[in-house]
Amino acid sequence: MVSTYSMWSLFRNCRKAVDWRYLQQLVPLERDRNLHFGSLIHECLQLWHQRRDLAEVLALISGLCPNRLQDDNQRRDWHLATAMMRAYAERYAADDFEVIGLEHNFEGPIINPATGAASRSFVLAGKVDGIVRIGGEHFILEHKTAAQIDGDYLEKLWTDFQITIYAHYIEQTMGIPITGILYNVLVKAKLQQGKGETEEEFQERRAELLAKSKTGKTTAKRRLPESDEEFQERLTEKYADPAMFHREMLYLSRDRFDVLRSELWELTQAFLDARRRGVFYQNTAFCFNYQRPCAYFALCRSNGNPNVIENFYQRVPPNTELRVLPSDAPEPTF
Ligand code: SF4
Repeated sequence: MVSTYSMWSLFRNCRKAVDWRYLQQLVPLERDRNLHFGSLIHECLQLWHQRRDLAEVLALISGLCPNRLQDDNQRRDWHLATAMMRAYAERYAADDFEVIGLEHNFEGPIINPATGAASRSFVLAGKVDGIVRIGGEHFILEHKTAAQIDGDYLEKLWTDFQITIYAHYIEQTMGIPITGILYNVLVKAKLQQGKGETEEEFQERRAELLAKSKTGKTTAKRRLPESDEEFQERLTEKYADPAMFHREMLYLSRDRFDVLRSELWELTQAFLDARRRGVFYQNTAFCFNYQRPCAYFALCRSNGNPNVIENFYQRVPPNTELRVLPSDAPEPTF
């Protein structure tokens, strides 16, 4: 079975979620907005680092948000991505790294640390956003979009086990030593496009102002919706703030590789045991881990009711994020 670190991480957090996603192959019909924006920006960054042509990137954003005139979510994504990428291109007009490979896929064995033998049940596959060279050393490039960057956020990067284990696999499969990770963090502006008010809302607000007014008069005017140009201007001002982008370099420790490799092996053994016994227990402490319900909340709450499956979920094979197989991926250049 081709496994990914996302699967193992989910297995560690809630075994039932792994059963829903990877064995029953269910995903919610409605896609998480944050995931949509994240993958949109990843595509933009890939194109930018490949071609360094802002016009192409902006055309890509428009192509990925084709219904933005009618669809509020697409319009929000379009505005945010456009302002973000314009500012990014200006901020990083020249980079101090050389791109070696982008969106690079890998696949390698999962090794039993006690015997050195490869698992006969699983291989690990993954994809890194990029591999870059800085002053003769190689780093994994990892793009992240964040709600805000503070000390806590940067501190937590250390716990990003996925990228550490991926760095190990890149070393193994490509035969190049990886010195560390270059995190490329882009902050998502929280600004919203002004909706304006309806005639009724205006009359209500006007009546309240009149009631408070000593003269019995008010100069209040109906608030009109903010135009696309005005909103884009506000976003551009926001992205002029240097704090909206951050690059953090993290050096890898070889000891971490060993810890993570043995953890990964332990997870494979626990998975095989769960599958053999057909027991994937729930971890209800994880249901609201991201301040919103887990994607499988409706399923768990209804005990896997077939009507819930039919109306709110679809079957999608796992690991769709690995769109290009290693053998099809363009080879990085050294
Ligand atoms: S809803 Fe809770 S118990 Fe069910 S899969 Fe999600 S995290 Fe696990």
